[in-house]
Amino acid sequence: MKTTLLLAMLLTSCGPSNASFKNSNVNNTFTGFVAMFEELMSTKVQYTTISFRSQASPQVGLCLYQKGGKENYIYVDPSFWAKASFIEQTSLIFHELGHCHYKLAHIEGQENGCPMSIMSPWIPSETCLDLNFDQYVDQLKETVESGGNLYEPEDSEVIGHVLMKNTEGNNE
Ligand SMILES: [Zn+2]
Repeated sequence: MKTTLLLAMLLTSCGPSNASFKNSNVNNTFTGFVAMFEELMSTKVQYTTISFRSQASPQVGLCLYQKGGKENYIYVDPSFWAKASFIEQTSLIFHELGHCHYKLAHIEGQENGCPMSIMSPWIPSETCLDLNFDQYVDQLKETVESGGNLYEPEDSEVIGHVLMKNTEGNNE
C-alpha cells in the first residue's frame, strides 16, 4: 500500500464523526491513525488512551497494559512524532495498537533487509515501510487470526515499546 493511499484514508477518516472511539480517549492528533487501523484491521479500538509523553531516546512509543484491567495507555514521544514522516507515524501507532489492542509481543527477524513485522522492536526505515506496509498489515492480521504471539503480562507490567530506527538505517 502506498503512502498516498494511507494519506487519503487519513484525510477522509479524521472528520468529527470519527473523532471518538468507544470508551477511549484519543488525542486528536491520533484519531485518524486509529480510524485507519480500525478500517484496515476490521476492528474497534476500545478502552484505549493515546497521548503524548516524552520518553528517553531511543524509545519513542509505549503501550501500558495491566493484566486483568480494561484500560490501555499508549504514549507517543512528541519530539519523535514532530520529526517522523507520515508512514513512520502510522507505523508507530499500528505497532503500539498491536501491543495494547491485540496484546501482541514483538516479532523479531528480517526479510530482504527489512523487519519481518510491524511488531519489530525497531521502526522499519521509510524505504521498508513504503515497500512492505501492505504486507505488514496482512502479517498483523494473520498473527491475530492465528492467535499467535500473545504476551501475557504480569500485573501492571509494561508490555512493550517501540525503538526509534537507528542511524544505520533500521533494524537490530
Ligand atoms: Zn513494541
